[in-house]
Amino acid sequence: MEEFSAVLDRADQGAVLTVDDAEILLGASGDALEQLLAVAGKVRDAGAAQRGDATGKRITYSKKVFIPLTTLCRDRCHYCVFVDTPGGLRKQNKPPFMPPEDILALALEGAEMGCKEALFTLGDRPESRWSVAAEWLAEHGYESTLDYVHEMGEMVLRETGLLPHFNPGVMSWLELQRLRPTSPSMGMMLETTSSKLWSEPGQPHFGSPDKDPQLRLQVLDDAGRSRIPFTTGILLGIGETLRDRAESIIAIRDSHRKWGHVQETIVQNFRAKPRTAMMGHRDLETEEYLAGVAVTRLMMGPGPIFRRHQTSPIQMNSTPSSGQGSMIGAGSARSHRTTSTLNDHGPKSTSSRH
Ligand code: SF4
Repeated sequence: MEEFSAVLDRADQGAVLTVDDAEILLGASGDALEQLLAVAGKVRDAGAAQRGDATGKRITYSKKVFIPLTTLCRDRCHYCVFVDTPGGLRKQNKPPFMPPEDILALALEGAEMGCKEALFTLGDRPESRWSVAAEWLAEHGYESTLDYVHEMGEMVLRETGLLPHFNPGVMSWLELQRLRPTSPSMGMMLETTSSKLWSEPGQPHFGSPDKDPQLRLQVLDDAGRSRIPFTTGILLGIGETLRDRAESIIAIRDSHRKWGHVQETIVQNFRAKPRTAMMGHRDLETEEYLAGVAVTRLMMGPGPIFRRHQTSPIQMNSTPSSGQGSMIGAGSARSHRTTSTLNDHGPKSTSSRH
């Protein structure tokens, strides 16, 4: 407790925290957690005041329409409820990719309802796992999923004026450069820097090439070097240690300190879903979640107007837990996204609009 108090005092004085510090704070519970929340809340309120929000209670959001370009993916994250298989799509009578005319119709509908942004959600490079995806792209004249994303983003921008926000998973340097002129901001969850969760059989990211933490850190840095406003974040409760959590938050902080490009830091909590490989895994405890939000706030600071933290209960149809109200106290900003399914690509439902 003595060590905790010393670290919290330093945090309260605005000191730059280390991985060791973050790990200590992330373990807070009971009274210690209350103290942590109070300090993080002060940082959040200072940011609100800088933005002219004296009450700290202003809720901001961006009206957007979600465009699920494809629910096929080459990865196999054990918690994912976003993905479909080709067989599953056939049963639903759906093509591997949302056709251009459907994308345009959905975007136009969103624009008519007052949306300003079109958020493209999709799985990672499905063509390298599923032949139906590769065939569909070839038949329609696209080289890759990211080529299709680019073309559809340009179409939506041109025809509707909605600003495309791309969330296509891992992107190479060249792909980022190609997408950049069309998309004023992009996103990809870092999720975790734990290589164990990716490299060991049975772990949630085993068998998912795009979940290699080194790759994702590279994307985060490449986006910064390319001056792309970027949304990223961490996923808590999938088997990572407190140390892993601390390292993941620090990795985002350090990339942002270097490039100044992180516009939004998402803190996402694991909750078990039926029909997934992790359906028997325990949900992230509310106290752990609160500590994660608070430490992220302390690491990222009060921040510029576009940087905000998001707390998202990850079941679209779940009742928020009693601790959700405490999220504000944990230093989370009021975010424009409050619910999403557990994946790094956003809600699956085509009717989800925020
Ligand atoms: S979480 Fe994302 S990368 Fe993982 S399987 Fe689902 S859609 Fe693919």
